[in-house]
Amino acid sequence: FESRFDLPHLKDVFPDAVPIPSTFCLRMRSPTEEFADGYPSDEKWHGYINNSDRVLLKVIHYSSPTSAGAQCIDPDCSWVEQWVHRAGPREEIYFRPEEVKAAIVTCGGLCPGLNDVIRQIVITLEIYGVKKIVGIPFGYRGFGDEGLTEMPLSRKVVQNVHLSGGSLLGVSRGGPSIPEIVDTMEKRGINMLFVLGGNGTHAGANAIHNEVCRKRRLRVAVVGVPKTIDNDILLMDKTFGFDTAVEEAQRAINSAYIEAHSAYHGIGIVKLMGRSSGYIAMHASLASGQIDICLIPEVPFHLHGPHGVLRHLKYLIETKGSAVVCVAEGAGQNFLEKTNAKDASGNIVLSDIGVHIQQETKKYFREIGVPADVKYIDPTYMIRACRANASDGILCTVLGQNAVHGAFAGYSGITVGICNTHYVYFPIPEVIQYPRSVDPNSRMWHRCLTSTGQPDFI
Ligand code: ATP
Ligand code: MG
Repeated sequence: FESRFDLPHLKDVFPDAVPIPSTFCLRMRSPTEEFADGYPSDEKWHGYINNSDRVLLKVIHYSSPTSAGAQCIDPDCSWVEQWVHRAGPREEIYFRPEEVKAAIVTCGGLCPGLNDVIRQIVITLEIYGVKKIVGIPFGYRGFGDEGLTEMPLSRKVVQNVHLSGGSLLGVSRGGPSIPEIVDTMEKRGINMLFVLGGNGTHAGANAIHNEVCRKRRLRVAVVGVPKTIDNDILLMDKTFGFDTAVEEAQRAINSAYIEAHSAYHGIGIVKLMGRSSGYIAMHASLASGQIDICLIPEVPFHLHGPHGVLRHLKYLIETKGSAVVCVAEGAGQNFLEKTNAKDASGNIVLSDIGVHIQQETKKYFREIGVPADVKYIDPTYMIRACRANASDGILCTVLGQNAVHGAFAGYSGITVGICNTHYVYFPIPEVIQYPRSVDPNSRMWHRCLTSTGQPDFI
């Protein structure tokens, strides 16, 4: 089973690297026993993942383009493109636990579940027998600023961190250059780096992997855990934090609904996260059943004109008496003045589409002489700061464990994910080429339109 997603391995750079047998699964079964001199023969194979295990990337066959939507069909998808490497503990490992110094860093914005992943990485490292585990404070900045000292981590330190949101280590944008980061890693003797972050962070992680392994020829494993509340990472079923975000978003939608429903001609507008992908807005609309209009970046719309959003709002007020709009932050940016402002990581700062729709709605109803009570809710920071829900808690736990298994297996420049309900490893460049987005021809978007009852706004 060849795969396009073959994983970069330390062996590629160090052909003489000799693996040692892992005792991970044995430790799991009997933490008090010593297995230094080999395995009990009948237990040898228990619980390890074979390097040749593969997961099927797509589990549906579309018999015609019309049965799926044009973008769902990938006619060029060859046999080798369909198989992904299965994640999990390997029988042979490429690091002696006593020689490992592991570091964890969280970058970008907050996302529910960061602490769950940190916690599980630490716990799993300890089960492998690693003693030196540190947290890098405030993202990649913690590698540059002398004043930011690394935080020693152990099971005791992380035991209860998942009970609150945020990141125990802190996050940031921007920071030192890749050579500076690697200089610091070398100086501090870090040979396993776990990077929690989105597309930008992963681009950084891949650059660190190339600098450290290929350029400086150091035996260091760099493993990512994709953190994007927007769920916009390619090829993955979902990313951690997304489920929690959808759940929390419903509270905001429910408040907007109650406000709109209780007012005379009430209109509620809720802005949700989603810079380039409307997954949160789409799923929250579907989940709540209280949304009349869902607007996402992938689907163009008009505000004004006979087929515009505002005309439909008027229709809703006339027929239902109230309406609720859910808009993703990246939607309708073409209506807004470009600010050209960028954040410390170089991301373009978006203008506020929620405020714009609120203002245009007020103006429109004033002009047509129909009273309307417009209320706007932006729950972004309340959602990002939540602790992970049960489903995300489990996802974070498995991703954290698999990140450690991947590093011990000798993979570097990889990231962990869930694919068709199985846990897998991907080479980083494969998943960060561009953000994943909602396919307007997909069944899911059609389901969303069916549930809101909204027309095309073009
Ligand atoms: P979020 O989803 O919250 O935006 P992110 O990982 O995309 O997460 P960014 O602020 O874009 O967040 O980037 C996080 C870190 O990665 C920053 O410290 C930034 O300097 C670094 N970074 C971003 N893009 C790159 C890149 N192309 N190469 C190297 N480092 C990068
Ligand atoms: Mg980003």
